[in-house]
Amino acid sequence: MLKKLFQSFRSPLRKPQQHVRTTPEVLSSSQHSLQRNQFSRYAVNIVERLQTAGYQAYLVGGCVRDMMLGITPKDFDVATSATPEQIRAEFRNARIIGRRFKLVHIHFGREIIEVATFRANHPIDDEDEDSNQSSRNESGRILRDNVYGTLEDDAQRRDFTINALYYDPVTERVLDYANGVHDIRNRLIRLIGDPQQRYKEDPVRMLRAVRFAAKLDFGIEKHSATPIRPLAPMLRDIPSARLFEEVLKLFLSGYAEATFEMLVDLELFEPLFPASSKALEYNPTYTHTLISEALANTDLRIKQNKPVTPAFLFAALLWPALPARVLRLQERGMPPIPAMQEAAHELITEQCQRIAIPKRFTMPIREIWDMQERLPRRSGKRADLLLENPRFRAGYDFLLLRELAGEETDGLGEWWTDYQDANDSGRRDMIRDLGSKPDATGQGPRKRRRSSSGKRKRAGVDGAE
Ligand code: ATP
Ligand code: MG
Repeated sequence: MLKKLFQSFRSPLRKPQQHVRTTPEVLSSSQHSLQRNQFSRYAVNIVERLQTAGYQAYLVGGCVRDMMLGITPKDFDVATSATPEQIRAEFRNARIIGRRFKLVHIHFGREIIEVATFRANHPIDDEDEDSNQSSRNESGRILRDNVYGTLEDDAQRRDFTINALYYDPVTERVLDYANGVHDIRNRLIRLIGDPQQRYKEDPVRMLRAVRFAAKLDFGIEKHSATPIRPLAPMLRDIPSARLFEEVLKLFLSGYAEATFEMLVDLELFEPLFPASSKALEYNPTYTHTLISEALANTDLRIKQNKPVTPAFLFAALLWPALPARVLRLQERGMPPIPAMQEAAHELITEQCQRIAIPKRFTMPIREIWDMQERLPRRSGKRADLLLENPRFRAGYDFLLLRELAGEETDGLGEWWTDYQDANDSGRRDMIRDLGSKPDATGQGPRKRRRSSSGKRKRAGVDGAE
């Protein structure tokens, strides 16, 4: 009885929503805002040639969605009934890529158009005839989705309604199988089909929901939002290399600050960054400010077309988790500097089990952190040597970030700002003035005791504790 009540209470959330029709809604050119000449002429040309050769072909996905919203698309994707081999036979400049699922890249100078053959979802419980392996694991996650299908199948297997719009630049018609146009008008991210099942098939869709909601400033429709918190831990089973790619998209698309807020709110941040998530709990203001300021700054740089480095981003995302570890190691008797080194090493190693950050980024993360140790030590020739260090700029920016988040550094950021602006004699004066301070390292009066080597007594993460 109770169970039944519970089920009937749950049913509005669990009932599969019929968002995919077998016949699409067809919008003629007067019923939508798209214009053929807004799309990449190469992509339009590919569609025309495939259609002339007798295949079905459409522009699809992000480019149609973004165009409808007046956003310049990142790239243009084509979906077609032609197989990769048939596509390659039509285009000399085509390359088949991907092993698990073949795609075709057609090259036009620097522009690449991705052409994909219509795909279908593996039905639940379907057994793969060749290998006798199931296409899903026990939690419903799709392991292989390398089956070709019809146009309808292709619409059905896509993630969100707004991503399942097909534009035919020849007839200038839009095919809408999933009420995507309705959701674009109402600014809603809505999964196609039963949300819980679709997230279980591919938990990364939870991250994609957040990414599109932040990028487009859309809401996540209620039934698509509700299963996210309970299913968030499923992200722990996603291969760390795939998560690295997804996290870069989340934080390097120009909407990182809003994305971060949403990830935390939907409890998706914890499975991605477990240590930082703990820091958010025990040191909320500092951690939140440092991470969101770093992300806001990244967003700004992207808008200004300035380069951004994932290393700086990861350095900021992980930094607030360091002090507790440094302290723990120090309590076990490890001296400050080795404790800092060891904590950094441990933290990065642990993080890489979730998100496979490549070595070309973990090295600079360590360097940015090491620089925090060195920036206070400016006497003699040290300041000038630091300025010449290729990592100085990142280290200095990181110091300013820490100060912005409320860390007490005794004016160190301002000192370095002035030092960079000063001429030679100005610089000499600044170094000399350091010597007249009680602490020649410029630490201020509190820390008089120094070891004979002049090393700081504590790791440079003090204020974060
Ligand atoms: P953008 O490229 O602007 O980030 P997009 O919608 O083009 O957005 P892509 O990751 O390039 O996103 O994917 C292209 C299309 O493939 C999507 O629009 C969607 O229809 C489909 N798709 C991508 N990933 C998934 C997924 N995990 N599950 C189902 N469909 C997906
Ligand atoms: Mg795309």
